[in-house]
Amino acid sequence: MQIKKNDKVYDAVIVGSGAGGGMAANQLSKAGLNVAIIEAGPYFDPADPAMKTQLRWPWESPRRGAGTLRSFGDFHAGLGGWTVPGEPYSTVEGTKFDWYRTRLLGGRTNHWGRISLRFGPNDFHGKDFDGLGENWPITYDEIKPYYDRLDKLVGVFGTNEGLFNHPDGYFLPPPKPRLHELMTVKAATKVGVPFYPGRLSMVTKRINKDRGVCFYCGQCSRACAVYADFSAGTCLIFPAMKNGKDGKGGQVDLFVNSMAREVITDDSGKATAVSYISKDDRREYQIKGKVIVLAASACETARLLLNSKAPGQTNGLGNGSGTLGRYLHDSTGAGASAFIPSLMNRERYNEDGVGGMHVYAPWWGDNKKLDFPRGYHLEVWGGMGMPSYGFGGGHKAIQKMLGYKPGGYGNPLMSEVKSYYGAVVGMAGRGEAVALYDNYCEIDPGKVDQWGIPTLRFHYKWSDHERLQAKHMHETIREILVNMGGELFDDEVPSYENDHGLLPPGAIIHEVGTARMHNDPKQGVTNKHSALHEVPNVYLTDASVFTSQADKNPTWTIMALAMRASDHIISERKKMNI
Ligand SMILES: Cc1cc2nc3c(=O)[nH]c(=O)nc-3n(C[C@H](O)[C@H](O)[C@H](O)COP(=O)(O)OP(=O)(O)OC[C@H]3O[C@@H](n4cnc5c(N)ncnc54)[C@H](O)[C@@H]3O)c2cc1C
Ligand code: SF4
Repeated sequence: MQIKKNDKVYDAVIVGSGAGGGMAANQLSKAGLNVAIIEAGPYFDPADPAMKTQLRWPWESPRRGAGTLRSFGDFHAGLGGWTVPGEPYSTVEGTKFDWYRTRLLGGRTNHWGRISLRFGPNDFHGKDFDGLGENWPITYDEIKPYYDRLDKLVGVFGTNEGLFNHPDGYFLPPPKPRLHELMTVKAATKVGVPFYPGRLSMVTKRINKDRGVCFYCGQCSRACAVYADFSAGTCLIFPAMKNGKDGKGGQVDLFVNSMAREVITDDSGKATAVSYISKDDRREYQIKGKVIVLAASACETARLLLNSKAPGQTNGLGNGSGTLGRYLHDSTGAGASAFIPSLMNRERYNEDGVGGMHVYAPWWGDNKKLDFPRGYHLEVWGGMGMPSYGFGGGHKAIQKMLGYKPGGYGNPLMSEVKSYYGAVVGMAGRGEAVALYDNYCEIDPGKVDQWGIPTLRFHYKWSDHERLQAKHMHETIREILVNMGGELFDDEVPSYENDHGLLPPGAIIHEVGTARMHNDPKQGVTNKHSALHEVPNVYLTDASVFTSQADKNPTWTIMALAMRASDHIISERKKMNI
């Protein structure tokens, strides 16, 4: 088949337009580089009335908002989910991994929770504390200037609390806690779990003229039409494209609906181009670049590299260590919810807030005194947000708890629902899993997707480190909910045989670590600047480079590292090294 080659040579070709790709495009074009972005999904602008789902009523959707092509419902700005038609993956028997993919300009940042936490100093050298996993080749002090720049560029609300491993930053004013959150803080304090204002990237105060200010509709998962929440498309790529057109930066060319297939190299092993399949005509194209940046998300970037080769590199590009695809790990997750009778029959008022929690509990424990090695944080949900295609874990469960006959219709059901609407509070723990060599993805021999690209096969098992952490999450959450006067929906902590309620790997959608950073090229795929040890003009700016996760969500660190890698590309170009 003839491959169509574009004659233009870009300074950088970036694959993926989410958190990592968007940041690289923004920073590189700001420095004057001409950039091509190859993105598998379609163009998306939440301000365009034809695409906007924010502030739309449930009855505007045929299923009141329940989705068919989107895992979290029709209005959710996440085109894709755990299943993408025509793009399968598999798991080896006895193991489990749920792979979530969003195919859209801006990737998952269009609908992420926007919990924007810096990793702390200890998170970069966890092995020193418990001997498990591996230390990063960088320290907090090396990444701190990038977190600082990121806070100022993107905008994040929160408060400076002086907590050593939950570092302070440059925060916008946080929204006030709502009633269910105030009750949570009070009940948690009694059991020794301190809560603090959340740290999320919604703009609560004007930071520039391109972005509006949050008006508290609570619908960030639909993507904000005034660009007050952070999405890579609206806040990084659109400004970069505008600057490029105005001559204030390098040009940014978007290639959407384009599924990257592999990185092309020359006889010397240097990367020269990316090949992709156009979803419009199903033909294969190539775009040439002096630098190639992969940011297709941790597992997809591993897939691209495993599907690429260079002279002497036949088991994947940059895979001399044999660790490409290895050390895959997701955050742990477990949670519980309760019905809070004192929140019944409340006067109706608007308590929407931002589309996420206003308070959270960063890890407060001391793992040396516990039977699991790494920490977690607590997130809280509840309140009287705009109802969609269900609420509070299903109204029949509440009816059962209150001794009502489940079901019903018409006015009696309406008045029943009004009495208990907003009276369910839930909490979720999100924790650090230990990165293990035996948890990995690889190419599934003989299997291809609808574009003819070889697909991934996963091997992933939790260990007791994660199971025992989930047990602790359940016990803590239950204690807090009961302290609030709550009646738990499930009385017992799930058993060891049921992983103590730990959700399957991949379910928390924080997958990291398939091409980890390591100073030793025999033990890792990338160097401390996120470039492949063996192909120095290929950089990875997504979570593939994580040496380890933390008890934090990963995206603020993905973006800080993407900024740092972009600085390195710029300085290496100046030195004519790449
Ligand atoms: C519902 C939800 C809530 C979340 N909440 C949080 C949170 O509160 N805090 C947090 O830190 N993280 C959160 N996350 C995780 C966060 O979204 C990811 O960590 C982050 O978006 C990863 O950035 P990325 O650039 O690696 O990948 P993505 O944002 O997924 O972007 C990858 C892009 O690459 C494109 N792509 C993939 N393959 C190819 C290919 N072969 N060719 C071309 N393009 C390709 C995709 O279409 C996509 O646009 C959440 C995720 C979800 C789904
Ligand atoms: S809550 Fe604020 S930031 Fe989120 S979508 Fe609504 S207005 Fe935008």
